[in-house]
Parts: sequence; C-alpha cells; structure tokens
Amino acid sequence: MSRLLARPGATFRCFGDGLCCTDVHQLGPVTRSEKVALDRHAAGATTRIAGLVLLRLSDDARPGGCHFLDAEMGCRIHTHDARPRTCHRFPYLLVRTPDGLRLGTDHRCPCRTMFDRTESAPIDVARAEAALLDRAGRLSTDRAIEGRVPIAARRRVGWTRYLAIEAELLASLARASAQNPVESILGVDPFPEIEVGTWEQIGVDLAMETRASRWGECFRLFGRTLAWLHCPPDERPRRLAFAPRLWQESFDRAERRTPFDAARADDVIEAMYADFVADFVWGLEWTYACDMTQLRIELCSRLAVARTFARALVRSGARPDRACAESIAMIEVVGVSPAWMSIAGRCSAAVP
Ligand code: SF4
Repeated sequence: MSRLLARPGATFRCFGDGLCCTDVHQLGPVTRSEKVALDRHAAGATTRIAGLVLLRLSDDARPGGCHFLDAEMGCRIHTHDARPRTCHRFPYLLVRTPDGLRLGTDHRCPCRTMFDRTESAPIDVARAEAALLDRAGRLSTDRAIEGRVPIAARRRVGWTRYLAIEAELLASLARASAQNPVESILGVDPFPEIEVGTWEQIGVDLAMETRASRWGECFRLFGRTLAWLHCPPDERPRRLAFAPRLWQESFDRAERRTPFDAARADDVIEAMYADFVADFVWGLEWTYACDMTQLRIELCSRLAVARTFARALVRSGARPDRACAESIAMIEVVGVSPAWMSIAGRCSAAVP
C-alpha cells in the first residue's frame, strides 16, 4: 500500500520522449558518491556549476542533451547503478502536507501532456514511490506545507478549509472544455495593474535572458510573447513568429505517437491546460510566493502568454495539441523561476 496521495484524475506514463534528459532544466544535482560512480563509468560525465555537481550536457552528438543521451533519446545508463537518483524522480514532486505525502508531476515533458486522453490510466502511485525513494530507501520531499494556507490578501485558512476550497477548484478544472475554458473557472482577469513596472517591461526584461541554452531561449520566447501582448497595437509587429522550435526532437516523437482528432482538438487542448493548472495548484509550491487569489491571476496571465504562443505556432504549421504542449512546457519553465514567482506576489495590488 503506497503512502503517497495522487491528485484524482492525474495521469502519467513515460513514452521515452527524452525531454527530461535535456537542458529543459538542470540535470542534477548529483551526490558525491553518484559523481564518483558516474566519473568511473565515463570520465567527464559531470560538471560543477555554481557549487552544484550536475550531469554534463553534450555539445557534439546531441547538443543540449545529457552526456548519456543516445541517438534514440534513450539513456545509455538507464539500468546501470550509476544513474543518479535525480533522473529517477522526474517528473514527480513530493510535498509533505498535514494529511500525507502529496504526489505531483511536472508538465514540461510531452510524456505528461501529450497522450491519447480516451485511453489514459491513473498515475501509477507504486511506481512513482519507487522512483522517489533515495538510495537509503527514504522518501525525500521537495517541499512541506505546515500551518495555514494563504488564500487571499491577509487571509489564511486551516488545512481542512483549504482542502475544501481546493477540491472545488480541482473538480471544476476536471470539467474544463472548449465551452468552459480554464480562465472562466479561475474567475479572474490576467495582467492586473502592478505597483512597480509594466507587463510590457517585464516581458522585455525576460526576453533579455542571456543564457545560451534552450532553457534560456524559453525565457526569451516567453518574454517576447508577453511584451508583444502588451505593446501598443500600432507599434507591434503584426505577427509573432518563432524559429527554430525548442526541444524539437522530443515534441516530434510525441506528435508521432499521439493520435489527433481535429473534431475534438479544442476540448483536448482545454483538458491539457486544465491538467497543467490542476497540478500546479496541487503542487503547492505557489504557497511560498503568493496567495490563492494571486495564484489564479498569475495562472490566467501565464495562460494568456501560452495561448498567444501556441496560436503563433499553429499559424506556422504546428499541430494544435503539440503547440499547446510546447506552450505548457514554456510557461512551466518560466513559471517556477524565482523571477516569475516574485511577479506573482506583486499581483496583489490589483485584487479588489
Ligand atoms: S543520466 Fe540518463 S536519465 Fe539521467 S539525464 Fe542523463 S540520459 Fe537522462
């Protein structure tokens, strides 16, 4: 019997799309003993950045992919003891709450966002638990929620009350459809006035991210889209265009393995965004940065960027569900950054 609590309706199956083994996030950190094992297996497999030991990215065969990623997007040490625990954990998150250990999932990988929704099965909690155990057989958590939960400016509620509020929101998100979009369920407007700066300037600042990786490009794309949305109409380019595409090989694989029914596309896309939003709420990381009202506003704002970005991809020929998955990857990468979290906390000025 697993000790973990999965969100009702959450699904996940790894299809080997390989995005988790790339610069969509930092590959690590690895522990001292894991570094020794990795270096013994392949000299130069790790690198040290800002005091952390990370897996080295390849700069020849598969630029931006892990040193161990093979030509088929598989891990060359998948069954080897040297494979670090951090690789086993993705896409799972573990949160300690007053009523148990919550299992959450990241949505940047198309394995989590693109699949046949008529055949999906609930998340395999026992498998997730095995992935989350450390080498000593313990479950280490990513975060812990104790005490009261912020749900509005100067208003915190106890855990039981919070669960009731959350359950209502999650149940509504489970019914999202093209006729009942996520933003109407969240019930707030995006992009309120903020005390310092403007949304256009925030976009311009994010678009100036200097890191050369695709992770850095993700911020630049998000920033350009946000700035475009807030640029005076007579000053902005008529159309947004994005090339080259990010993590193309992983999304290509996901597109090939996922059936697409154009007649159901709008409902599927709404389900994809709703699933992402539900897991972001369930993951509770937002409680460190903002209250639940601010969360709704920042999610609506990120969704506006995602939908604008996805529309631009569709105009340039992308399949709509894939464009949606790419847009979710982008808003998740940016949304969990300290820069965006602090922006979420600044939305309070506009809350009535
Ligand atoms: S070691 Fe294997 S699982 Fe871990 S990031 Fe590299 S390729 Fe992926």
